[in-house]
Amino acid sequence: MSQTLSIVIPCYNEQEALPQSIAQVRKIMAASLPHVGYEILLVDDGSTDGTLGLIKELARKDGRIKYLSFSRNFGKEAAIYAGLSHACGAYVVMMDADLQDPPELLPQLYHAVTAEGFDSAATRRVTRRGEPVIRSLFARLFYKLIGRLSNVEIMDGARDFRIMNRKFVDALLDMKEYNRFSKGLFGWVGFHTKWIEFENVERVAGETKWSFWKLFKYSVEGLVAFSTAPLVAASLVGFLLCSLSGVATVFIVVRKLLFGDPVDGWSSLACIMCFLGGIQLFFLGIVGQYLAKTYMEVKNRPIYVIGESNVAQEKPCKG
Ligand code: UDP
Ligand code: MG
Repeated sequence: MSQTLSIVIPCYNEQEALPQSIAQVRKIMAASLPHVGYEILLVDDGSTDGTLGLIKELARKDGRIKYLSFSRNFGKEAAIYAGLSHACGAYVVMMDADLQDPPELLPQLYHAVTAEGFDSAATRRVTRRGEPVIRSLFARLFYKLIGRLSNVEIMDGARDFRIMNRKFVDALLDMKEYNRFSKGLFGWVGFHTKWIEFENVERVAGETKWSFWKLFKYSVEGLVAFSTAPLVAASLVGFLLCSLSGVATVFIVVRKLLFGDPVDGWSSLACIMCFLGGIQLFFLGIVGQYLAKTYMEVKNRPIYVIGESNVAQEKPCKG
């Protein structure tokens, strides 16, 4: 292994932010970790702006900069997986291209895995300052829900910004699932992780790639990937409603026998039928989610396709 540290940065349309973040990383590395050999592995996730051109230019000028470019946009999770697969360092750092993951924390992260005996050091935001209120609210709600429903530890406010040792990276790479939810996978592999907290920082330039809808889909992905509790909920609600209707039937029969009441109330019956139909469809939808994920998994498609790169695809860390 030629490098000690690999810094993996997924980039999707980051032409405005990337030059600043690379400069900042170089500055911090030179000032605080001058003896640590490093490579910066940029994963271009099918950018449609000038990001790839910029990356190639950076790589031409600096031999420490490696890049992979996807044939189209595969999403950040795929970029993380590709980056980890091609990182050669004994330690690997994942960070965003927009300086929302402060490079100032790099020395602290590096110290945690090299001197303090941790296998990984991760970061979490303790504030969500500068983020839309609705978005923060739903994010909090999601972490509460997944915390309850899943037995894997998923930390509220956790960033993907973390350092890992080889053992940790290899464990992550062993999970070749197509529907990747890294925040859960990081927790799933276990090991000893140190948590470092910081205040939210807004991105330096460019725009967030996450719309509310994209985040919603991502959270459903997380829930389906790390919990089967919603499936159990279907049986539970079904059981409760059956019991309820059993009691109600007995009530009606007894009432008829004792008081001879005619059975009336068509409108209430219609409401009950709609209600039950709705619940059935809702849970059918949940079952469908799991089925869809299973369908994608059994297809066993590659997680990403590389368009071009300056790292060897076979044995990327040799030579
Ligand atoms: N990103 C990516 N592919 C995507 C979307 C985002 O590789 O489809 C990268 C993006 O370039 C950035 C990181 O993931 O480095 C985080 O994205 P962003 O800053 O838009 O997310 P936010 O910080 O707003 O959650
Ligand atoms: Mg960001």
